[in-house]
Amino acid sequence: MDERETGGGLPVGADLRGWLRRLADTGRLTTPRAGLDLRFEVAATANVLDGTAATFFRGPGGSDTPVVSGLLSHRDWMAESMGVPTAEAARTFGEASEHPIDWVEVPDPACQQVITREVDLTTQLPIPTHNEHDSGAYITAGLLIARNPVTGQQNVSIHRLQVTAPDKLGVLLLPRHTLAFLDESAAAGQALEIAVVIGVDPLTLMASQAIVPLGVDELTVSGALRGEPLPVTRCVTNEVRVPADAEIVLEGRIEAAERAPEGPFGEFPQYYGERAERHVVTLDAMTTKEKPIFHTIVGGGLEHLLLGALPREATFLVELQRRFACVRDVHLSRGGTCRYHLYVQVSGHKPGEVTNVILSALSVHYDVKHVVVVDADVDVHDPMEVEWAVATRFQASRDLLVVDTAQGSKLDPSTVDGVGSKLGMDATSPLDAPEMKFLRIRVPGQENLTVDGIRAAADATSPVDYF
Ligand code: MN
Repeated sequence: MDERETGGGLPVGADLRGWLRRLADTGRLTTPRAGLDLRFEVAATANVLDGTAATFFRGPGGSDTPVVSGLLSHRDWMAESMGVPTAEAARTFGEASEHPIDWVEVPDPACQQVITREVDLTTQLPIPTHNEHDSGAYITAGLLIARNPVTGQQNVSIHRLQVTAPDKLGVLLLPRHTLAFLDESAAAGQALEIAVVIGVDPLTLMASQAIVPLGVDELTVSGALRGEPLPVTRCVTNEVRVPADAEIVLEGRIEAAERAPEGPFGEFPQYYGERAERHVVTLDAMTTKEKPIFHTIVGGGLEHLLLGALPREATFLVELQRRFACVRDVHLSRGGTCRYHLYVQVSGHKPGEVTNVILSALSVHYDVKHVVVVDADVDVHDPMEVEWAVATRFQASRDLLVVDTAQGSKLDPSTVDGVGSKLGMDATSPLDAPEMKFLRIRVPGQENLTVDGIRAAADATSPVDYF
């Protein structure tokens, strides 16, 4: 990552406020009318601007604390925050995930300028209610950092957090790393120490979504994206280490046996996650900057989807290229919720190898449900191109692979509690096909022309003169 353009020093995404300034300076940060209602108005506005501009809400619900949304609602912005071209983003993220850099503890952190021991989420923070049937206000951009009581290792992940009481949050823990830590702490007869960190820099936000093994602290992936250790600090009431420059830190714990109703909540597949008895976070303190910024991610919006896409693509690229020399690129499509539909581009594959690629891809992450493999002449980042390959190179009786009863996403309503089918489509041309049969038509010289170039060199005479 030495060759990255960072303007000297850190990538621009290493600092939240610096990133917001950059968005503002380039017309990508909109400040709507002040005082919008936290119930629906904030989310509706953010959704309308989603992918076009980030939104900075002043005085939301009358709060002194502003709310920001849509920091990373475009793939190009994610790459920009890392200081690389968009085509290199997944590769760069993958390298960071493979080569993490340990964090460093610093004194006098900005995130502890104000310390509140009596936490009341209902009055102290502007927490929005997003979708129509959400059960109430949710913290959606909180990095839940858990500390394994036995090993001291940390895990970072984003969970939906329902404001259940002034100092309680209902939390959905899917069967991944936080839950594994909770099981270990329960076995040790302790509560799981956690922090919920709101308002972090874009690199740390993306790093929180890295698909790294249990025991790898995702904050160390943020360090690798920065190119130097992430400054962290110890919480005031527990041993969890949090990013020192965070806007807001909620310190607390999860008791293994405690449950309370949580949900429904509008999730990334654009359906509601159901109401059920779920785990509970109890808060012991809140620390913030003097004038903090609250970050919210609207469920189902582009920021929500893309934060899932890029880190996963990075992992698919690393894992598949480790096994298969033929894999060139991957893409998680928006229509597939940036989680369920994986497109893989290959070239130079051997007979039968596409099937191995499909089976391997399905096992890298349980969220992936449908895999489509295409040749190198198909733009894997353009769903219309992939559909063209399926339309013209795929035969169901020959190229379709179906696997029954596999673990999938619990948030996919077509599964039975997360268990469902997997599907692979080999949309590559047959290896033994005659040379011309699958050759894409092409106009020589077209690749050197652009719309702007043609317009710039246009003939000054009006065509209307002729007719
Ligand atoms: Mn993890």
